[in-house]
Amino acid sequence: MDIRIGNGYDVHALAPGLPMWLGGVRIPSENGFVAHSDGDVAIHALCDALLGALALGDIGHLFPDTDDTWKGVDSKILLGKVVDRVRALGWQVGNVDITIALQRPKLAPHLLAMRSTLASLLGCGTDRVSVKATTTERLGFVGRGEGCEVWATALLVGTAPDGIPAKD
Ligand code: MG
Repeated sequence: MDIRIGNGYDVHALAPGLPMWLGGVRIPSENGFVAHSDGDVAIHALCDALLGALALGDIGHLFPDTDDTWKGVDSKILLGKVVDRVRALGWQVGNVDITIALQRPKLAPHLLAMRSTLASLLGCGTDRVSVKATTTERLGFVGRGEGCEVWATALLVGTAPDGIPAKD
């Protein structure tokens, strides 16, 4: 069995009057993320972790913000495309772990919805998808409510038959 690990990181600025999407879930908030896409910073970090595990670059490279195809796009569509690519190369998700740093609103009531939404997109059980949230104790740009920061880790497991290395 072959395994690969990847990490992803993303930041988006907050601005009033925009919808807030995180982990594929609409979060009730006065502020949302400034972005070319829907600004789902958690999905973006997760995509980069999946791509990083296979050394496939990053989502900025795959879905450039200079391309109007991706303007306002639902980030769940981007994740779906990344997962299709991961699967086509002979890999499946072992587990993922995501940490979201946001001062407010509190995300605890939404974590389970994020886990199940992401698990269905990743084609794995909810037990393999961890989403954690923290504030930064009012320190830094996150603490001042200027933006959101997300770290993601993804472990992939090769699905090629024994004796044949998974394609890369
Ligand atoms: Mg992003």
